Amino acid sequence: MLKIGLTGGIGSGKTTVSLIFEVLGIPVYYADDAAKKMMNIDEKLKQQIIETFGNGSYLDGKINRVYLAEQVFSDKEKTKQMNSIVHPATIADAKLWMMQQSTAYAIKEAALIFEANAEKNLDLIIGVHSPMPLRIKRVMQRDAISEEAVLARIQKQMDENEKMSRCDFIIENNETELLIPQVIAVHEKILENIFRLHN
Ligand code: ATP
Repeated sequence: MLKIGLTGGIGSGKTTVSLIFEVLGIPVYYADDAAKKMMNIDEKLKQQIIETFGNGSYLDGKINRVYLAEQVFSDKEKTKQMNSIVHPATIADAKLWMMQQSTAYAIKEAALIFEANAEKNLDLIIGVHSPMPLRIKRVMQRDAISEEAVLARIQKQMDENEKMSRCDFIIENNETELLIPQVIAVHEKILENIFRLHN
């Protein structure tokens, strides 16, 4: 089974594209959702977070997002520390999940694949690309936040062009090209790849 990564900047449309792959019968691992869940239930991870960021990290056993956001997001070094705790845990969890899938290929959707060095565990990477003004508009609408808040999030990520140049396939999510035919085309190319590997 091929392990496929799917990445792109904030608001590029990763989740939207992933849902189309799911319609085609391809299972998708959503790394952000998995990380959030693990931070609440994985005892080893919880312990590491408490040791690094203090007892205030959890309230009644549940992650204290407000406290952690204050601790982590304004401080680059602390963001790095948090990533160095959470990324290995989700990478290991995704690996396990991949092993349990029985389709021709499965997808791991994550905003940070190259940043977390997760590409080592993946065979091919799909990039979702969207023009910056559209990404800003969509995230402002989706999360009801200001343009400044969206830009602050975007600036923390790897340069979009560099990210896309490292992907094997690119899906353009703009307002002119249709998504579904592009997803089907990538799906067929991945299946061709699998066919070639086995023949
Ligand atoms: P994040 O990194 O913040 O999780 P994402 O890359 O997963 O974002 P989505 O959540 O898929 O992006 O898309 C951002 C918003 O834009 C969502 O509200 C989604 O419904 C909308 N959107 C994405 N693509 C399209 C499209 N082609 N047409 C209409 N709306 C879209």
